[in-house]
Amino acid sequence: MLYFIFTVDGDWKEYFNVNLPEDERVPRTGIMQSLIEQEIEVSRRNLNGKFIHFIHTSARARTFFLNESFTGYWRQIIENDGDIGIHCHEDDPYKAYYFHDISRMRDVISKQVTILRRHGLSVCAYRSGWLAFSSDLIPVLEENGLCFDFSCEPERYLVDGQNLVSDWRGAPTSLYRMSYHDHRKTGDSRVFEIPIGVSGGRYLYFEKSDARTIEEAAYNLKAESAKTGRDIIVSVLTHSYEYASLDDIRSIEEKISLLKKYGYFINIKELKNRVESSKKK
Ligand SMILES: [Zn+2]
Repeated sequence: MLYFIFTVDGDWKEYFNVNLPEDERVPRTGIMQSLIEQEIEVSRRNLNGKFIHFIHTSARARTFFLNESFTGYWRQIIENDGDIGIHCHEDDPYKAYYFHDISRMRDVISKQVTILRRHGLSVCAYRSGWLAFSSDLIPVLEENGLCFDFSCEPERYLVDGQNLVSDWRGAPTSLYRMSYHDHRKTGDSRVFEIPIGVSGGRYLYFEKSDARTIEEAAYNLKAESAKTGRDIIVSVLTHSYEYASLDDIRSIEEKISLLKKYGYFINIKELKNRVESSKKK
């Protein structure tokens, strides 16, 4: 069987635009609220509410999404059978990347999950900005009860200037339990990785892939699962800024309907059940 977990990274476009003055690179409450409302509607109409919204936590919006203008949405997503996660952007886009500064990552991650849990919001999913990762982050995720990581895009190798940002060369292409020694290998840590779906260089990364590419990847993944008799569990990636226009939303819904021909969308609870049942086998 083929299973998908639909995800939305809570980014806004201006964050990445280095040509804008600093005061224009921060998120706007009203705009972000309407984007998130669209995400919730799309998930309700197409996914029985099952998706993960990854809350952006960068220094430009450290606690912006943790106040009462947004916590109601996070509660609503969970009540609808969806989930929330945190999306840590410890970077200044195209200038600096702090993902390998583990004490900084530990500080940000523990503060974010503490505030969310204080609001009564459960959180166990994580994704880094730029899909950055290092094995040293695994114990930090464990300490904070974040047992599902979504930062893997298999074969991604991102270097910006002197900075190695993201290295997923050789990583598995379906759910795996990470090794403490190498995040790209299976092992015995308590963190499970759910890679972005990929087949033959075609990624379930909506912004980068047209409908045909998405369908070809899904077709191949289903065929691979049937051939091997093994479940394939992967994630599907979109961003909040992709929910800005009706045309964009229509395109997202078209891609979701294509994916539904080949696999099932599940939430974190169902993901946990699948992990448990695979342990018993
Ligand atoms: Zn991001």
